[in-house]
Amino acid sequence: MEEDGVLLETVQKQADCNVCHEGPVVYHRVYSGEKLCRKCFIKTFEKRVIRTIGRYGLLRPDDRIAVAVSGGKDSLSLLHVLKKLEKNFPRASLFTVTVDEGIPGYRDEAIEYVVETTQRLNVPLVKTSFEELFGMTLTKMISTSVFRESGLAACTVCGPLRRRAINIAAKKAGATVIATAHTLDDIVQTYFLKVFRGELGSSDVGLRSEGPVIPRVAPFRLTPEREVVFYAYLRNIPFQSHVCPNAAEAMRNPIRQFLAEFEERHPGSLFAALRSFEKATRTTPKNLHYCRTCGEPTSRETCRVCELLTSLRIS
Ligand code: SF4
Repeated sequence: MEEDGVLLETVQKQADCNVCHEGPVVYHRVYSGEKLCRKCFIKTFEKRVIRTIGRYGLLRPDDRIAVAVSGGKDSLSLLHVLKKLEKNFPRASLFTVTVDEGIPGYRDEAIEYVVETTQRLNVPLVKTSFEELFGMTLTKMISTSVFRESGLAACTVCGPLRRRAINIAAKKAGATVIATAHTLDDIVQTYFLKVFRGELGSSDVGLRSEGPVIPRVAPFRLTPEREVVFYAYLRNIPFQSHVCPNAAEAMRNPIRQFLAEFEERHPGSLFAALRSFEKATRTTPKNLHYCRTCGEPTSRETCRVCELLTSLRIS
């Protein structure tokens, strides 16, 4: 926010918005050259989400959409945009899903933001937790000696279990699609992670695919994270700003840092990387099996969730 604050001050001294030619400039999209006033930033931001949904066929007019919300800026901004769009699609319906992993002092506060926002926007909320689904909180899982000896990072366990928890809750509530708030930055980071794990092409990231799993789509696929922060700020969306105490260990951190620096020096690189990954994954055959333990669809013999639960001796 501080960075955007500086940006705001700097560009305000310059000319009027180059879309409406009226309002003072509050945001400079360096990669496109656009200098925008508050109204045009919000308008173009929301229009881009609509274009992304249309371009990739992410949502259908009669979808029952489960929006995965964590209480952070990205997911609560996505909820605001989708709620606004819902009016134009009378056959579609929206609800939210949130997962309590059991991270004291962090997730409890985030969930308060989720409850407050969903009540204010009048969107139903489905809550679930690791304790309910896997019999243990994340904090308990990572405090066991088996976990400490495994050499795993908390996020390596938490990520797949969170995804599974969202799938279970969304399926139970009749969702036809799950919308996640992954931004352009997140999607490109995930493609890089897949490269380093030798998994590029095993599944699309944030695109709708047909098959036995509820599709997960990312309407912010073409929206840089920095613009989501600015949107939340301009629309006064309250969100949790504390970082998860386990976040420092995340495997994607060095990739995130590298990509952020690269984008700073070479604006537009994230969009170019996304285009390259889209071309590469379009030509790579997908290989979907069913997990031999739980029967859930997976690209492996045993899914990642069962692998983790077995290695941590949780099941
Ligand atoms: Fe889970 Fe890691 Fe995210 Fe914390 S930062 S909520 S441990 S995935």
